[in-house]
Amino acid sequence: MQPVALEDLTIHPAAPLLIVDVDEVLAHFMAGFERYVNRHGVEMRIDRFALFQNLYRPGETEPLDLETGKALFDDFFRHGADDLDPVEGAADALADLSARSGVVILTNAPAHALESRTGWLGKYGFDYPMILHSGLKGPAIAAMAGRTAGPSCFIDDLLPNLESSYQSAPAVARFQIIADHRLRPYAPTVPERHDLHEDWATLGPALGAAIA
Ligand SMILES: [Mg+2]
Repeated sequence: MQPVALEDLTIHPAAPLLIVDVDEVLAHFMAGFERYVNRHGVEMRIDRFALFQNLYRPGETEPLDLETGKALFDDFFRHGADDLDPVEGAADALADLSARSGVVILTNAPAHALESRTGWLGKYGFDYPMILHSGLKGPAIAAMAGRTAGPSCFIDDLLPNLESSYQSAPAVARFQIIADHRLRPYAPTVPERHDLHEDWATLGPALGAAIA
């Protein structure tokens, strides 16, 4: 699979469009990052919705300093981001939906993650164009959805991205899934505004209905 720039993306002018995040939507990011930090003598304690504030040295009660956490995160995307488990049912659901809809992967990850990210997506059957992005996703979603008259959907785990989509492109239907069941209880959600799902068993049919 190939990464593309937003302006080079081919979007069918009448077909539905699904814009899909990767981490905690298609990939079990937290669990993979946890395995990575464990190999570096750091443990993850999931007791809040955060990344770096959940990293601890064994036996310590204060989280790792932010610098060390960020360095681990950066290195993970160099050396560890191939080692992510796919989220159950996601590949089959998207394969099914892609018969009647365009699919674009919109992922926030550092630029040096390009190879590991495209490699991972290809390996697990997510053979769709990928846009490597940074920052809130609303404007990019508006730009893509504005190129088709068909219905569009956006799927992400992070409330700020869903809110950004709502602000920039209110007509795009929004869906939230937080694949890590340990993280889910702490995740900020607004289910009356962004349709919340526990897994792809319900998310897949909900997307199908949204693009029908
Ligand atoms: Mg994500």
